[in-house]
Amino acid sequence: MDNFHRDTWAEIDLDAIYDNVANLRRFLPDGTQVMAVVKANAYGHGDAQVATTALEAGASYLAVAILDEALALRQKGINAPILVLGASRPADVELAARHRITLTVFRADWLEEAASIYNGSIPVHLHLKMDTGMGRLGVKDEEETKRITTLIDRHPSFILEGVYTHFATADEVNTDYLSYQYRRFLHMLEWLPSRPPIVHCANSATVLRFPERAFNMARFGISMYGLAPSPSIKPLLPYELKEAFSLHSRLVHVKRLQPGEKVSYGATYTAQEEEWIGTLPIGYADGWLRRLQHFHVLVNGQKAPIVGRICMDQCMIRLPEPLPIGTKVTLIGRQGDEFISVDDVARYLETINYEVPCTISYRVPRIFF
Ligand code: PLP
Repeated sequence: MDNFHRDTWAEIDLDAIYDNVANLRRFLPDGTQVMAVVKANAYGHGDAQVATTALEAGASYLAVAILDEALALRQKGINAPILVLGASRPADVELAARHRITLTVFRADWLEEAASIYNGSIPVHLHLKMDTGMGRLGVKDEEETKRITTLIDRHPSFILEGVYTHFATADEVNTDYLSYQYRRFLHMLEWLPSRPPIVHCANSATVLRFPERAFNMARFGISMYGLAPSPSIKPLLPYELKEAFSLHSRLVHVKRLQPGEKVSYGATYTAQEEEWIGTLPIGYADGWLRRLQHFHVLVNGQKAPIVGRICMDQCMIRLPEPLPIGTKVTLIGRQGDEFISVDDVARYLETINYEVPCTISYRVPRIFF
């Protein structure tokens, strides 16, 4: 919090994250653990702070997308088990083992190469990924599955700790394809000589709708941050989620425009009357994207429209009245009775809520409370 020198920041409500995880723990059947998904800097919320909070709230495993994210967590003192969901390099197996980082295996030839490189004695924990219909990563056939389990069995340091799959449509109201993938997973599990200790398939949408389908671990991502996996299943969620992310700035310049005067690149905005225009130190390089032109922010508890093109580092808003320099402006979050949710921004951008906090760039300091 101390080490930044700009008047734009994101606030991360760690209590909300704590409650979202604790509520899930209460909701889950006994014996089902929580894996907190903290990839992409915890969906833009701050990896180590979210990881620590999730673990305090009862999560027992962390998940990231790439090995570098796992190593960054280790460097920040996080000791909990971490699974890398994406592809790692066979040559990095030793590095992962040294840092007790669990890797995903989804190809027999990857494992052969890893086995030929790694002859260390530190255990390498592996989760086998099965492709039940997502079409992204995963083993699809029985013969390759058996090659993988045999290779793991024969290697003195490889341990098959888990098996998992990922659903493509869990956030849709229609559950036909989800059920198809679930049945396919049950079938594919039969290919294993025995089930490893951890079996997981459920993202937020799956676990919140069908907790009984989560086997013994749920991979909890978007809803840990208090966001619904999609607008269509928001009404189907079993309890209220608490949104953790908000975004703020301050007026750094305020000026009076005369009718006919213009604002920003392209001079696309023309004052119609005498108007008060404020400048905010946030722009598209901060993840406040150009397409948010004509959207609004909150000042003194009221909506204020974004006028003119959003620049790389700044944007302009029309003020209801002249306001002091330093006045707080909320771009995502609450001011008085008004609220701009992550979902509101996502809807305006015609994208999904996941993309919004992820897009707020490293330049925006995260403040935790
Ligand atoms: N599991 C995998 C393999 C993922 O890629 C993701 C996120 O994209 C998740 C779990 C978490 O999903 P969600 O954020 O919808 O809970």
